[in-house]
Formats: sequence, C-alpha cells, structure tokens
Amino acid sequence: MNSASAEQIAPVVIVGAGPGGLAAACTLAAAGTPVSVIDESAQSGGRVWAGSMQAASAQVRHYLSKRGALDHPLIRYLPASRVLAADAQRLLVEIPAGTQHISYKNLILATGARELQMPFEGWTLPGVLGAGGLQLMAKAGMDLTGKRVVVAGTGPLLLAAAVTARHAGAHIVRISELAPRARIAQFAGALMRYPDRLWQALKLQAALGWTHLRAGEQLIAARGNAWVDHVLLQDRHGVQHRVTCDFLAVSFGLVPNIELAALLGCQLRTGADQFLAVAVNEHAQTSIPNIYAVGESSGIGGKMKALAQGEAAALHLLGHAPSNALQKRLRAELGYEALLAQCFAIRPKELPALSPQTLICRCEDVPWQTVCESPNWREAKLQSRCGMGHCQGRYCSAALRVLKGTLSTDWREPIFPCRLESLAQLPTAMESTTPM
Ligand SMILES: Cc1cc2nc3c(=O)[nH]c(=O)nc-3n(C[C@H](O)[C@H](O)[C@H](O)COP(=O)(O)OP(=O)(O)OC[C@H]3O[C@@H](n4cnc5c(N)ncnc54)[C@H](O)[C@@H]3O)c2cc1C
Repeated sequence: MNSASAEQIAPVVIVGAGPGGLAAACTLAAAGTPVSVIDESAQSGGRVWAGSMQAASAQVRHYLSKRGALDHPLIRYLPASRVLAADAQRLLVEIPAGTQHISYKNLILATGARELQMPFEGWTLPGVLGAGGLQLMAKAGMDLTGKRVVVAGTGPLLLAAAVTARHAGAHIVRISELAPRARIAQFAGALMRYPDRLWQALKLQAALGWTHLRAGEQLIAARGNAWVDHVLLQDRHGVQHRVTCDFLAVSFGLVPNIELAALLGCQLRTGADQFLAVAVNEHAQTSIPNIYAVGESSGIGGKMKALAQGEAAALHLLGHAPSNALQKRLRAELGYEALLAQCFAIRPKELPALSPQTLICRCEDVPWQTVCESPNWREAKLQSRCGMGHCQGRYCSAALRVLKGTLSTDWREPIFPCRLESLAQLPTAMESTTPM
C-alpha cells in the first residue's frame, strides 16, 4: 500500500506504549473507553521494559493489571508505527505497510525521552555506545561474555546499564560518575523518601558486587584504532587514569521527546535540567485542552512519574477527579523529577574542554571549531550543516544546548526520517480530511 489508507477517528489516541501510555490506556479501557495506542516499537513496554512486560517489576505489573488487562479488547495497539506529523485533528502514521491517517478527539502524548549524547574525544569510535543503547542490545540477546565494559557519565541509568551488561556476561571494570560525592550523597539521602527506588539502587549495587562507583570523575577521551581499547578518566584531584576496555557505555541523561507537542503548538517550558519539556497542569493537560503529555515528555522523572501522570490524564479525560492518593503520588513524583535535575543535570563547567576537532554532529561530520562561534542554532545549521543529517538535530541540538545554551525551535514534519512514500504523503496528509 503506497497511499494513505482510509481515515479513522478515535476517541482517544495515545502515542507511546511505555509506562505513561500504558497506564493511561489501561485506565481508559477499564472505564469502557476505546483507545488506540501507537508505538514505533514492535512490542509495548517503552524504553524501560524494552519490549518485555516481564521486565517490569512485580509491583508495576500488579499496578497495570489491576487497572485493566494489558490485552483489553478496547485497546487497539498499532505496533511498529511511527507518528510522523500531526495537526489539530489527525496524525500521519507510518505503518509497516504504508501510511495511515488517524483522526483523534483527544490525544495523549507519551513519547518518552532519548539519550543525551555529549561529545568528547573519541565518542564516535566503534565500541562507544549510549548506556541505554548497550542495555537494549544486551536485552535483545547480545553476548558480552568476558568483555570489559566501562560505564561513564552521570545519573541512575549508569547503574542500571552496568547491571544489564553484567547479566549479559560483561566484566564491569569501572563505573565513572561525573557528579561529585556531595551530590551523590544528597541523592542517596533523598531516596529515603522513595523506598522503592532506594531498594532498587541497593539491589543494583549488590548485583554489581565490588565494582566501585567513582564520583566526581570526568570522561576525557575514548581511544583506540578501529575499536575503543581504553578510556581516559580524570578524578577529582585532577589525576588521569587510563582504563582498558572493550566497550564504553556512556549516559549523560535524557532529553524529552517534545517534537510532536511542539508541532501541535502545545506550550513548552524549560526544565531545571535546561531542556524543553511539554508544559502541563496537575492533570497532565497541555495548553491545548484535548491534548495531554505524560511521562518523560513533560520532564524527566522516571517510570513511576509516567505511570502516575498516565493515570491522571486518563481520569481527567473521563471527567473523574483524581483520588487523594494519586494526587499525593503525583506530588512525590514531581519532587523526584526535581531531585534528578538537581543532582544529575550536567553543568558545562564540569565537562572537559572540547578540542576544536571533536565532532559535534556525527551525521554531517561537523567539528566543534565550526559551530563554537555560531550565535544560535539556526546559524549553526546554515553555516555548517549541523543538525541537517539523518537524525535532523535530535542529538547534536541537545549537546549544543548544554555546551552553548543554544535552543533549537525549528520543528518540522516529518519528525523522524521516513520512507520516500511516507514523505510524499506529508503535504496532502494534513490538507484533506475524510472522516470515517
Ligand atoms: C535508552 C533508555 C534506557 C532506559 N533504561 C532505564 C532503566 O534501565 N531503568 C529505568 O528505571 N529507567 C530507564 N529509562 C528511563 C525510562 O525509560 C523512563 O523513565 C520511562 O520509560 C518513562 O516512560 P514514558 O512512558 O514516559 O516513556 P517511554 O518508556 O520512553 O515510552 C515512550 C514510547 O513512545 C514511543 N514513541 C515516541 N515517539 C513516537 C512517535 N512519534 N511515534 C510512535 N511512537 C513513539 C517510543 O517508541 C517509546 O516506546 C531509560 C530511558 C531510555 C531512553
């Protein structure tokens, strides 16, 4: 099928089948409301459960199943389908067999986040991966037996990625955390208010055995010829350490996926981590009344925040008031979001200086020296092709936000690279409407 198929109208469409989208879908379906859930992945679960609901903790599985079976007949799931564009009435979705227009009355954006990839010397070498990327590959069955892995960057994802790699057979030689000890201690202390996360952190530490987490350590460089063979790390006393490895897994945090909300004209806000997130009220409702944004798209706060906001959005749509318990959970999770930003948002002064040749945009091979003087994102693009490649600036614009404070605001459809036949649907896709 090359052309867009017949229009469908759904009372509620959810984009994203991670914790936020699933919580909303279950709550709506349990109340008798049909809901369509679209996700680019082949299976539901979002980034954290990566296609396997079995990976969800017993607590979370209990939570979701209590709110309606995940395979509820009122939940229509469209896997392997990407929303490329949106307007006030409908979405253009690239499905495996072509494209499809889906009209909606209400829209819940549960589009999650992507990894923040900060450049450093050698970051494009084979063997250097995003920590979440390594996690996904390990969960998909990659055998890391005997491989020496260094995990570096900042935030709770470091421990989670290290444990997943270890389960796949890796030898974790170092976990290098950029945040200084004082901020790690502050985070650990605050986890007393989040016993589930404290317990999870202790379990992760226990699973890692004697691997030490070094706080206040900078990742200086990854080096090797055809493949990374060692990394240079600088401790808080300024001493450099050469650590031999087969893989370097890096995580500097997450960046909310706000492109769809931005295309739709929803109001955005700058989060405490300096990235744009969708502005929402206590019901997860955006500035456009029939559009909601739940989970990471409204600020990086983890899966429990996504679950609570998904439920709150669904209840508001159904016209029900949230229970006191849900309101309390929401407040606590927003507190956790603030805590994450306070402890792990990266500060440019804590990063090592970049050499002029370090690539900023790996799609178009643009080095730091070409963009460091650009006054804004637009100039950087026009003068250097930064952000004009395959990822359309999804990664380098976030890095430049940290390094230079520049903000990318040129949202355009399609929000993902797509097939030529889908591209051909774009102008017509948003012009004519043929409701079912
Ligand atoms: C790479 C990575 C690894 C992570 N690992 C862990 C971990 O080990 N432990 C942990 O506690 N947390 C982890 N997190 C954080 C965790 O994923 C989130 O806290 C949680 O999943 C948030 O749920 P969500 O519903 O907001 O978004 P997500 O779970 O990210 O779900 C968003 C979904 O939306 C889909 N989507 C986005 N845009 C579109 C579109 N246009 N069309 C169709 N589908 C779309 C995506 O495919 C995705 O499935 C990780 C995050 C990332 C990015």
